[in-house]
Amino acid sequence: MTTIAIVEDEPKLSALLSDYLQSAGFETRCYDNGTLALTELSEQPVDFILLDLMLPGTDGMEICRTLRKTSNVPIIMITAKVEEIDRLLGLEIGADDYICKPFSPREVVARVKTVLRRSAGSIEQAGSVDGFDLNESAAIVRVNGEECSLTSVELNLLKTLHASPGRIFNRDQLMVRIYPDNRVVSDRTIDSHVKKLRRKLQQLDSTNEYIHSVYGIGYKFELNS
Ligand code: CA
Repeated sequence: MTTIAIVEDEPKLSALLSDYLQSAGFETRCYDNGTLALTELSEQPVDFILLDLMLPGTDGMEICRTLRKTSNVPIIMITAKVEEIDRLLGLEIGADDYICKPFSPREVVARVKTVLRRSAGSIEQAGSVDGFDLNESAAIVRVNGEECSLTSVELNLLKTLHASPGRIFNRDQLMVRIYPDNRVVSDRTIDSHVKKLRRKLQQLDSTNEYIHSVYGIGYKFELNS
């Protein structure tokens, strides 16, 4: 049985999440204090952590950083503001995904399953995900047997997003990854490369949207489920 820790100081929210996750077949453990959560999670590890950012005691960011020193446990951070997600992304604290309040518990369950699938499959998933294949040395992307060539910027862009399905990258993070020469470009330049790349992917497979834009934050690679 997969055990999920819910670290959240709003009791109603915590109970609601716990109910939904239990109905989905998970075991849950709830913590309403950050310091206590960090101590107990270090001593008694769980399989997954839903972690609120603002907590009494140690805050979510510090908990995530501390656990990451010794553990790869999947962590989804929960924050009250979209702007905070952007800030957290910039800090690279090592969370696997971010959810903004208010959220639907159903969405949280879906995101938990996605992250679990991703972390379970991250070893064998190196090359191909459901008919999607990236040939880096030839700069070719192949989708269900159809292929097309990519520019070096598009290749780096797709490589970055594809390597961490579901993870949201902001434009600054994409910029440092797609320009090896540390060139600084505008957000609009990034957007325009993403747009071209999406158009190419669209031509290979019009039934899937591989690169999703996350309003106000950036982009992520995700297969429609
Ligand atoms: Ca809180």
